[in-house]
Parts: sequence; structure tokens; C-alpha cells
Amino acid sequence: MNSQLKCIQCGKIYPPDIRLRLCECGSPLLLAHQIEGLRMRGSELRTIIESRPLGVWRYLELLPKAVGEPVSLGEGGTYLQRAERLGRELGLRNLYLKNETMNPTGSFLDRGSTIEVTMALHSDVRCLECISRGNLAASLAAYAVKAGIPCRVYVLPGAEQAKILQALAYDAELIYSSRRFNHLGDGHLVEPYNPFFLDGLKTSTLEILEQLDWNPPDAIFITMGTGSNLTATWKALNEAESLGLIKGNLPRLYGVQASGCAPIVEAFKKGLDEIEPKKDCKMIFPDISEPSPILGSIVLKAIRSSGGSAIMVEEDEILESIKLLAKTEGILAEPAAAASIAALRIAVNDGLIDRSEKVVCMITGSGLKDPASIRELFKLSYPKHVRVSGTKLKILKLLSERSMYGYELWKALKITYGLEFKLPTIYQHLSELLRMGLIVSKPPERGLGRRMVRKYHLTESGRKVLADSLNREP
Ligand SMILES: [Zn+2]
Repeated sequence: MNSQLKCIQCGKIYPPDIRLRLCECGSPLLLAHQIEGLRMRGSELRTIIESRPLGVWRYLELLPKAVGEPVSLGEGGTYLQRAERLGRELGLRNLYLKNETMNPTGSFLDRGSTIEVTMALHSDVRCLECISRGNLAASLAAYAVKAGIPCRVYVLPGAEQAKILQALAYDAELIYSSRRFNHLGDGHLVEPYNPFFLDGLKTSTLEILEQLDWNPPDAIFITMGTGSNLTATWKALNEAESLGLIKGNLPRLYGVQASGCAPIVEAFKKGLDEIEPKKDCKMIFPDISEPSPILGSIVLKAIRSSGGSAIMVEEDEILESIKLLAKTEGILAEPAAAASIAALRIAVNDGLIDRSEKVVCMITGSGLKDPASIRELFKLSYPKHVRVSGTKLKILKLLSERSMYGYELWKALKITYGLEFKLPTIYQHLSELLRMGLIVSKPPERGLGRRMVRKYHLTESGRKVLADSLNREP
């Protein structure tokens, strides 16, 4: 399609040159497609699109004009998973997950990379560069290799090790600095808000629409760093609507950020139109920690005009969501992706989402790319820092040999260790161990004839804490 670049702030128009990223006024540019010139729309256009192979390049009419063979690794065409089990946990009847972990490098960014690198290759770009804390580095490096263009990654402080190693494996040149980079090379700089890149990101939303037979969902949940994914979603929805592709109302958009670095959510709550850049962002989840999101103002506009909201989630809520998503739906997500689930839970509890509404969460990246968070997650369930001693340790030791009733334990402590307590003291210790998750109590098997009497069992955490404590004993 014929396209121009248009400034989101002052509206200035530029030719569709891959090298242009920002307007003279410093604001980002978006690709404006000349949709009026297109003859086909509505059902006719739907039929044409549906006849093409799955993937990003299926949506030709909504993408910049192809200038040659696409540089592709098979990105896009990801599964829209109906999430009945997770939906039940959250109290929702129509929950869907857009599983972007299925992309070639495990991240939704591959959709942007295929467009950007294709355009770069056919515009004689000699070197690709990016400034990254993780996912962008890995994605761009993979597509650069496929295109045969060298790739240079400026690694930001706090970058995620595993993702940078992924980029290294794809033969990228890594440059580290402890400060911000003032002088970059002479390569083509790829940022997630580059207009061509953003048009690639847009295709995940086009797929969601198509996978729901062009009936839009009621709400979409998207995690925000720079705000590029939410901007792309908003752009896709509006273009699809103006081409007559969709059959219903546009969805409400919910933008999600992690506490510690949530400038967009803060601006939204304060009713501001612009972002106040943050000076002290915590880099708990480096890939979504953006102190000064350049697309902030357009994101605020998109969320507000859609009737949605901006939601902040805590670190432990994100980690819990990784676990919940994995154990209910079989999808292992990275923290940035699972944050959308954590926010959905909050939105349901706050009454922002009706239980029968059709909701989509974008699961933007794979948990395999972030082993550190997975490790953190299991530290939560097997607390290493818990230490027990004295009577509690002896109770754990006895329960490690066999499960017992409270009365049996009382007797065993006396016989084995010569300890004499009043019975209520034993139950006090037991209730504390229950609270620590080190033991569980279960009612007796049927036919035992002793109602109300419960047997105590050691949990996996209890076993671990016992082993640690025994190792520490002199
Ligand atoms: Zn401008």
C-alpha cells in the first residue's frame, strides 16, 4: 500500500524512508496508509487475506509496500488459546491468550523485526543497531543474520543475561557501557517505536481479530515498556475498522506496568496528557522498565478513548501469575508477559471487567528466555530463608519418618526426646508449622471412626527446610 510517515505530535508528513525515525520536532512518526486508495474492503478484503499463508505478511493491504522478498523466520500466525482453566481461576467465561511465545526468538518483537529488517535490506542498510536490555537484541540479531547484515547491540545496564546470550549466539556484536550511550555507530538504529517496526507489531492484533472471526473482543490486556505494543494495537484496530474488516465495536485497551517503573500508569491516574519521565526506575524486570516512554502520550490517548484503563502490578503478583499461567494453560511466560494476567485479576476484582466479557491477554514473550525469574519463582514456594529449631525441628524430623496425629506426636516427642509438654503447646507448634507451609493436615481415612482428628504430613517445603536445618546443626 502507498504510505507516508506522519508525526504523532505536529502532523508533519515525510516520505516512507526506513531511515527516518523521529520528526524534526523530536516526536515519533507513524506510517499513514492511504486507505482511501484501496478498492477492496469489508468482506471482499477479508476473503483475500484469509486465502494467504499464515503470518505477518498475510496483511499486505495494511503494511508498507513490499520492496522485495521478506526476511522471514516464520514469525506470526501464533495461536489464540481459549483459556477455560485459567478463566475459571479468574472468574471469566471467555478468556483468550494470544500466545506470542511461539514466535521464532520467543518474543512478539519478531513481528517488528521481519518488517524492519526486510525494509533495511532492500534500502541498502549496511549495519543494524539497537540499544536493548534483552528481547529486542535477540530478535533483531536473529533477523539480521537471516538477512546477512551485521548487527551491533548496545547493551544497557541491568540487561537480562540469557537474552543477551541469545543475541550473541545469533552473531551480534555486543557493546557494553555503564552509562547511557551518547555516541552510536553509523548503522541503522532499530527502536521498538520505529514506524516500520511498529507496523509489524500491529499484526498480532489483526490476527486476534481474524481468529475471532473479525468480532473484536471486549477488552485487550497489554504490558507496556515504551508503549509500542499498545500503540500498534490501537493502530491496527483503527485501520481494520476503517477498512470495514471488523464486525463489532472496538475493544477497551488495558495497559499494564510493573510497580517500580510505571510512568504511564502514574500519568494516567493523575489525568495527565504527557508522561513525567522518572529518574529512579527500579529495574526489576529490565525489558519493560522504561523511565521515559516516548509513545506515552499516544498510549494515554488510546487507552482513554477506548474506555480502558492503566493498571500497575506488584512484583510478587507477576511471579504468581507466571506460575498460574503455566499450571493452568501450559504456557511458560516471561514476567513482562505474565503481568497482563496479574492486571486482569485486579481488573476483574475491581469490577472493570464483566465475568461474561470476551477478554484477550497478550502473552508477549517466553519464560525460557528468563531463567532468573523462574528460579526466583521456585524460591517462593520452597523458602530457603526459613529456619526452624528446637521443638519444631524435632516435630518435622518425626513427621519425616511417618505422618502422625497430634496425640501421637505428643507421645513420640516424650519417648524419643524425653520432652514433656501440655497437649495445647503441641497444637500451637503445629498451627505455626501449618502457616509456614511446612506441614499439611488431612482428615483421617473413612472408617477410622475418629471424627475431627487430623493427621499431619510433611510438605515438600518442610522436607527441604528440615534438610537445610539438619545440615546447619553442629
Ligand atoms: Zn513533529
